This record gives sequence, C-alpha cells and structure tokens, in this order.
Amino acid sequence: MTSPYDLTREDVATLLEGEPRYRVDQVWRALWEENRPVAAMTTLPRAVRQRLDDALTPALRAVNEVASDLGATRKWVFELSGGATVETVLMTYDDRVTVCVSSQAGCAMGCSFCATGQAGFTRSLRVGEVLEQVMVAARVAAPRRLSHVVFMGMGEPLANYAVTVEALRRLHENRGLSARHLTVSTVGVAPAIERLADEGLAVTLALSLHAANDDTRSELIPLNQRYPLARLSAALAYWNERTSRRVSLEWALIDGVNDTEQSLDELAAFATPLRAHVNLIPLNPTPGYLTRGSPPARVAAFRDGLARRGVNATVRRTRGRSIDAACGQLVNVTHARRGRLRVDDGVNSPARVDVDGGLLGRTRGPTAP
Ligand code: SAH
Ligand code: SF4
Repeated sequence: MTSPYDLTREDVATLLEGEPRYRVDQVWRALWEENRPVAAMTTLPRAVRQRLDDALTPALRAVNEVASDLGATRKWVFELSGGATVETVLMTYDDRVTVCVSSQAGCAMGCSFCATGQAGFTRSLRVGEVLEQVMVAARVAAPRRLSHVVFMGMGEPLANYAVTVEALRRLHENRGLSARHLTVSTVGVAPAIERLADEGLAVTLALSLHAANDDTRSELIPLNQRYPLARLSAALAYWNERTSRRVSLEWALIDGVNDTEQSLDELAAFATPLRAHVNLIPLNPTPGYLTRGSPPARVAAFRDGLARRGVNATVRRTRGRSIDAACGQLVNVTHARRGRLRVDDGVNSPARVDVDGGLLGRTRGPTAP
C-alpha cells in the first residue's frame, strides 16, 4: 500500500512514465501546494487520475473525530493498514495553527506517566502515514494556513529515526514549512539527538526532561537508565554547538514528585549551561499513573522559582483534556479504548462529536480539498 505522500518527485515521474513532463509538476503541485486527494485532482485527465488511483491508496482512515475548546482543538483517530490506530491533534491559535502528529502506533519507551507508554508498542509509521496526518489536518484548518508541526503525538520520533528525518525534510522542502516551526520532541535518545544535529535541519528540538536527578528520572522514564542525565546533557550541548539553536526542556509538573525546591535547583543546574527554555505543564491525568498534576498555584510558584534562578520558563495552557487529546493522553485504541469510540462505518466519514454536546456540522470534511 503506497500513499501519495510516500512518493518522492522521482517516484511520481516513474508512475507517470509516458506522460508529458508538466503532468509530473501538476501532480506534485496538487499534492503539496493544493493538498488534494487524488480523487479531487479534477484538472487531470481521467486516465491519469485512474493511473494514480490504481497505484496509490490513502494511508489513513479516520475512524473518529472529536473537538473541544469550541472547535479550536480537534483530535482524530486514524486507522492504519494492518489495523493499528494513531491519534493526531489540530490546535488553532490566534497566531498559529499547529498539528501534533504521531510517529509510532504506541510507544516502546514505557514512561510511567504517559498513556501511550502504558498501552505498549504496535509499530512504527511509514513516512506517508506521518505526512498524511499533516495534510489531512491542513485541509481541515483551511483557510487558515497550517504553520507548525510538532512530533508530540504517539511514539518516540527518534526511535523511528529515518522516517522522522524524511518527514521533516519533505515538510520543509515540499510543503514549504519553516524548519524552525517543526518540533521534534524526544524522551532522550542521546545518540539520535547527535545524529539529528548533523543532518543540517534547523528544526526545533524539545527534550522531555521531567526530572533532573537520575533516580527520579529513571523511575519516570526507563530510558534514563540507558542514557542518564550526564549523557543527555552532552548530547544537548552538541546540539547547541552544531545547530546554534537552543533546546526546549519539557517539564510536566507532578504533585510532590518534581515540583519541589530541590527539583527547582536540579532543573536550574541542568538548564543553565544549555541556556535552555523550559516549558511547564501540569501533568495530565492518565489511567495508569495515580499521582496528580501540580495544582495551579504550585505551577506558578515553580515558574517564579525558575525565573529567580535565571531560567526562562513558560507555562503552557493545556488543550484538549476533555477529549483525551492533551499531552500524554493519546493511546492506541486497539489496545485500550475501543469501547469508548464512536465508529462510523463509512470510509472517511468519521463520527464527529463535539464533547460539549452537539454533533458538529460536516461542513469541512477531512478529505475535502
Ligand atoms: N515520545 C516523545 C514525544 C511524544 S510525548 C517524548 O516523550 O518527548 C509528548 C510530550 O508529552 C512529552 O513531553 C511527554 O513527556 C509529555 N507527556 C507524556 N505524558 C504526559 C502527561 N500525562 N501529562 C503531561 N505531559 C505528558
Ligand atoms: Fe513514549 Fe514519549 Fe510517552 Fe515516553 S512520554 S512513553 S517516550 S510517547
């Protein structure tokens, strides 16, 4: 099964062999600029469309779509070939439109506080499967232009390294997204961070730190045993040096675990030499981890404590909690949530449920150009 977004330009040329050269350009534009599914490439002769249609199949089938924040946050559950599912979240802000994509169905890293980690690993995604998430979201965001892509959905992007790098390149080169608006979030695969630094891609790197002492971090994030803080810090210093870009450190505040004075000192000691920016969010609830997120007053106090220590920090507003679309709440439904899904049987006609009650009008279908 090949998705149109698995194809390079050369692949399109091969597929259209015998057709005039401008057809290749036309199809390429339809895919990347106009963002049309093959069926909607209506300016192509029927025979050409048929050729594409015979060779290509969309990689994603939307089985559910929900919205919250008055429609500003939308989450899709997409089924992949073979039956695994992934989740994609579109967030519309005043100044940007961001899509959060999954790089794997499930995740093998087993972080204790993360719903994806709790559910286990199914498989890594192909490049077309990652890119289609972006393109489907961009269609729904229109006429707003989708401007930012964050690899913060399900999976560890650096554990699906080649696909992640290829997807980043194509989003930049084919879709024209600014590299700095592409963010890779990693749990800390140190050698892969160094390799990514050598790729010559000026993307943004976010490290999910959450604890800056090895005992606590290893409890939260098993991979810390393999790449402890000193190793990570070296990889991040290399990133700074090679890319001249500062990293962001993600810190989900957990009540009594990583929101103490000691945590502040440890985090400041880790962040300061890297001149890193810290993003704070209260931990979102997941079924398999019982400690709560820090209360709002504690979150604000933690930010102030960082400021006093000279560390830049931002408190992020949580989006999509009510639809389990917030950080760490995405889960492979084939494992855990089949029963809660509203599945529609029509291809590409997901149940559109607004959690505030009403069914959403189907004014902009996810596959309409
Ligand atoms: N695997 C990558 C990217 C996906 S997770 C990574 O771990 O970075 C995206 C972000 O959500 C990470 O920063 C992760 O630490 C965070 N996260 C996971 N579970 C969370 C939870 N329950 N509450 C808040 N953030 C969480
Ligand atoms: Fe995987 Fe990231 Fe969740 Fe850890 S936090 S289990 S690395 S998705």
